[in-house]
Amino acid sequence: VAEIVKAVKANTKIPVFVKLSPEGGKIAEVAEAAIAAGADAVGTNANRLAIPPINLDAPGKSMYYLQEEISIACMNGPWLKPLALRDVYEIRLRVGPKAVITGTGGVTTWQDAVEMMMCGADLIGICTATLVYGFSFMPEFIRGFKEYMKEKGYKHPQEMRDTVVSAITPSAELTIYPGNAELIQPRLVAPCIYACPNSVPAQGYIRKVAEGKIEEAYKLIMSRSPLQSICGKICNHPCETECTRGLKDEPIMIREIKRFVLETAKKRRWSPYILPAVKERSGKNVAIIGSGPAGLACAYDLARAGYRVTVYEKNKTPGGMLTSCIPAFRLSENDVTYEINLIKKLGVKFRMGVELGKDFTLASLKKNGADAIFVAIGAWKSVKPAISGTELEGNLTAIDFLKQARNANMRQKMKLAGKRVAVIGGGFTAVDSARVAVRLKAKEVFILYRRTRNEMPASEEEVLEAEEEGVKIMYLVAPVEVIGNGKVEGIRMVTHVLGQQDKSGRRRPEVVPETYFILNVDTIIWAIGQEVTSGNVNELELTSEGFIKVDPATCATSLDGVFAGGDCVRGPSTVIMAIADGKRSAVSIDRYLGGNFLQYDPEKIVVNKDDVLLRSGNLPRKWRPLLEKLPAIKRRLNFREYRKILSEEEAIQEARRCLACGCGAGCEICKNICKMFAWSVDETAQVVIDPQKCVACGMCIHRCPNKNIKMVRTSDVPIHRPGTPS
Ligand code: SF4
Ligand code: SF4
Repeated sequence: VAEIVKAVKANTKIPVFVKLSPEGGKIAEVAEAAIAAGADAVGTNANRLAIPPINLDAPGKSMYYLQEEISIACMNGPWLKPLALRDVYEIRLRVGPKAVITGTGGVTTWQDAVEMMMCGADLIGICTATLVYGFSFMPEFIRGFKEYMKEKGYKHPQEMRDTVVSAITPSAELTIYPGNAELIQPRLVAPCIYACPNSVPAQGYIRKVAEGKIEEAYKLIMSRSPLQSICGKICNHPCETECTRGLKDEPIMIREIKRFVLETAKKRRWSPYILPAVKERSGKNVAIIGSGPAGLACAYDLARAGYRVTVYEKNKTPGGMLTSCIPAFRLSENDVTYEINLIKKLGVKFRMGVELGKDFTLASLKKNGADAIFVAIGAWKSVKPAISGTELEGNLTAIDFLKQARNANMRQKMKLAGKRVAVIGGGFTAVDSARVAVRLKAKEVFILYRRTRNEMPASEEEVLEAEEEGVKIMYLVAPVEVIGNGKVEGIRMVTHVLGQQDKSGRRRPEVVPETYFILNVDTIIWAIGQEVTSGNVNELELTSEGFIKVDPATCATSLDGVFAGGDCVRGPSTVIMAIADGKRSAVSIDRYLGGNFLQYDPEKIVVNKDDVLLRSGNLPRKWRPLLEKLPAIKRRLNFREYRKILSEEEAIQEARRCLACGCGAGCEICKNICKMFAWSVDETAQVVIDPQKCVACGMCIHRCPNKNIKMVRTSDVPIHRPGTPS
């Protein structure tokens, strides 16, 4: 090389740059010889000639379509960076500070460029990254590089050059302190878990399904809370709305995977895994008023914590709205009975047909031995607007309508066949009412909603299915008068546009003057809101909207020892919100009664979806399986469930699309890689490390996809000092 450099220099006037391949070995010595011979600069090239992937079906043949035989090929990319850094460092050591070096090999980010300069490079070569990402990453690269220089006070890249070179120390000279690995963010969760009010460990059970471990997935689901099979059917799945995979192709079918697991458990008669009560019975009594999702979730946790729990319910059947209002084609009574039986197994007692404010009061419950009370009575009173004509025959409230329709005998008496029905509202209750009206053979069914589809609280899926079944939806319209003579004959509506955002964050509908019209209907179902029945709660302080006032952190009401949650606190909401309220109240009651068995959910931090997509690389698009359903024309004929369950093969394939975004169950790379078995997964699906077992090797830190592990020093007294044998 030196001879060539000398010859070129002797015969030309152009600068000579010698780019060296590490393949020949001794790259630093060759660089030194080139500089000594007069080269103006030297550079590295980290590429390695290596054996590319082997064709396992035909080992002698190439994997590359246009190549017949196998050969040695050039490999490059970010994995080479540590080797390239070392090459540059060794050259700098040999050639001294004056020579110009170009550092190449695996540079993709501005941080890589800084590292390369610190190891001795004057200039940076970027090659493979442009082939993989195009040039679109360059603006961010340059911005980051400049910001770093500004932050550190560097005026020129030259000033950071070589900073690492003199600091690299032979192992015998190292000072090493004792320590162990530790999580940086103990609750760094996937978007699906972050979005779930009940923090159900979706990522964890999806991973188990992907591995074909269905029973383990079942245990993980059941470890969180009861009512999971109900959520598997009717949850509005905020987890799917937030799923990272939705940015790539389609969100994972989280709810359907859960439903598959729970239905498999029933079919295979796996005994439900209920977390055991770890305490002796405390002897303290808790009264729970209302057996809807909030009441049941609270009863479940308190029974596990060793309290004597009695649930008081005004209806004959437990379940609240689940058994009284949600139509059977979405949720069967058997589903609810199954869950309630699990709760009964924990010793929870049910007293049916007794109502707060009529048959007993909060004071009488306390007098009769209740040490704490949880009020979860729901919001059963449908609201009608203050417009004329709502007293005419043919005006129905959604709750009364759905309650009647839920009962097969009562349903026979509902005379809706051939009627034109208008449902007013845009929530789940409105959509359920419209779909029930279709099944009761109404001639035409309209949903009239004052905002647009984007603001509709009902889920996209339910709205679509309602439309498939023939429901017609009119947006941006609101009622001004019910018209009729003794009976409803029509409804006068006015058109709206969306104005500024209101308190709920949704844009407020505003009337468009002179746009009135009449829709001829003979039945109107009002689904515009629900209230708490006032006589039930006159012992408690209420909000201006008439709901029970609570401390949002603890669910404590204005009365000592009385807690409240679910729809009677937040107004009509989702099942999963009610379950979360029930669980939070159970912790507060446990604390109030001096216990410490239950814990509030720690605050969650969500991973960055862009980072997850970036690290997932060039992922091919893959779509969800098509969930088989009965065609709308058949669904309209009865109240039976119509969605099929995913097959095992479909569920496994779908689960394999999950990107394992967050930290904990479902990732577990740290646990799987640790040769000291220091990492484990706790009952909340979180990874935890045993510092006694950790030997601080650092393997997990390098493999953690979320960069969520750090090393902590446990003493300032070194365990290894310079000069001692390493
Ligand atoms: S890709 Fe998987 S872990 Fe990530 S949000 Fe979706 S379901 Fe959750
Ligand atoms: S490897 Fe996975 S489970 Fe372990 S700390 Fe990192 S993100 Fe969490």
